[in-house]
Amino acid sequence: MSALPALSTVPAEHFTGLDLARIRAEFPILRQRVHGKPLVYLDNAASVQRPKAVIDAISDCYSSYYGNIHRGVHLLSERSTAAYEGAREKVRAFLNATSVQEIIFTRNTTESINLVASSFGGSVAKAGDEIVITGMEHHSNIVPWQMLCERTGATLKVAPFTDAGELILEEYERLLDSGRVKLVGVVHLSNALGTLNPVKRMIEMAHARGVPVLVDGAQAVPHLAVDVRNLDCDFYAFSSHKIYGPTGVGVLYGKQALLEAMPPYQGGGDMISLVTFEKTTYADLPNKFEAGTPSIADVIGLGAALDWLNAIGLDAVAAHEHELLEYATAQLREIPGLNIMGTARDKAALVSFTLQGVHPHDIGTILDREGVAIRAGHHCAQPVMQRYGVPATARASFAVYNTHDEVDVLVKAILKVKELFA
Ligand code: PMP
Repeated sequence: MSALPALSTVPAEHFTGLDLARIRAEFPILRQRVHGKPLVYLDNAASVQRPKAVIDAISDCYSSYYGNIHRGVHLLSERSTAAYEGAREKVRAFLNATSVQEIIFTRNTTESINLVASSFGGSVAKAGDEIVITGMEHHSNIVPWQMLCERTGATLKVAPFTDAGELILEEYERLLDSGRVKLVGVVHLSNALGTLNPVKRMIEMAHARGVPVLVDGAQAVPHLAVDVRNLDCDFYAFSSHKIYGPTGVGVLYGKQALLEAMPPYQGGGDMISLVTFEKTTYADLPNKFEAGTPSIADVIGLGAALDWLNAIGLDAVAAHEHELLEYATAQLREIPGLNIMGTARDKAALVSFTLQGVHPHDIGTILDREGVAIRAGHHCAQPVMQRYGVPATARASFAVYNTHDEVDVLVKAILKVKELFA
């Protein structure tokens, strides 16, 4: 087959019935040109862009009813509190958690995982114990566990994956069988490979041995419907900025009984019941884990993002992105010298690749001149790069607003890179 893909052979959006023109119109940032070319934003796994509904929700909070929450007796504080707690209920419904007490607002996925490693891990792990993670974790789901192991004398165990990027479940099970495992941490959707891990099965296997499981859902939540009760996970972490919400907000879901038994992560205002110099008692959930003034307007913005996404429907989003992934993969496979890293059968929304003889940073720089924003680097998953023996990859990642035409632009731009380096 020719290396040159047939452009626009796929009718514009298309099988999944999404009105992409309307969706794109809701994103002011997508209208711009970059280096004189229309922006093709394919760095969504790093951070997506925000629709106007989210920008307006934040602006509306600051311009019409902002006040600090929980403590105030005045109207603005009451309105802000209601909107902030309303967002918590939206997150609860989004994850199908049992109660709002199970939803803790943090700064990001990283802080959610650090909270669990410090508070839960710090309570249960001791010398000789083990924490199991997988070989495809983001640094955020590696380093907090290493720090815990350093503090406690526990050991980090890593479940390996195949060349295709699929977890080897037998190896995972073998690690669980040691009888010393205190917690499993697993990424739901790998940001470096696109692999969708069989987390429900992995949780069943861990629970059969009495081991709780934390799922890093940073990449999963914008692409597929997550039901924490159906998964039966013990903790689930994600970031607002990857799901069309603002930066500065993360979510930690935890089963109520576990959260209740855990000590606070940080001390300060809002997380207490009564303070004296002799002794302090802590607030009930979820406040026990939310010390200090949170990012109020941004939490409200996250609520608006979830409303916006729900109105489209995650099933429609998943179907559209799957189309894009298949369309992009088929074309990229035809480019000689291009190697896709991560070819798992269950895969979502991103393509990580290398191009023979060209450093990924050069790919990224040349694509940028064509208006195409991708990411080049180790994607905060250096052990994944080490597993494949590469320093970095180029990564194109998709969101609901991306189009087949944009995939065509990406492919054309990569062919241009090849020409320049020929
Ligand atoms: N886990 C995964 C799988 C991620 O992709 C990311 C972000 N790239 C994180 C964790 C960390 O997210 P944040 O930087 O928002 O804490």
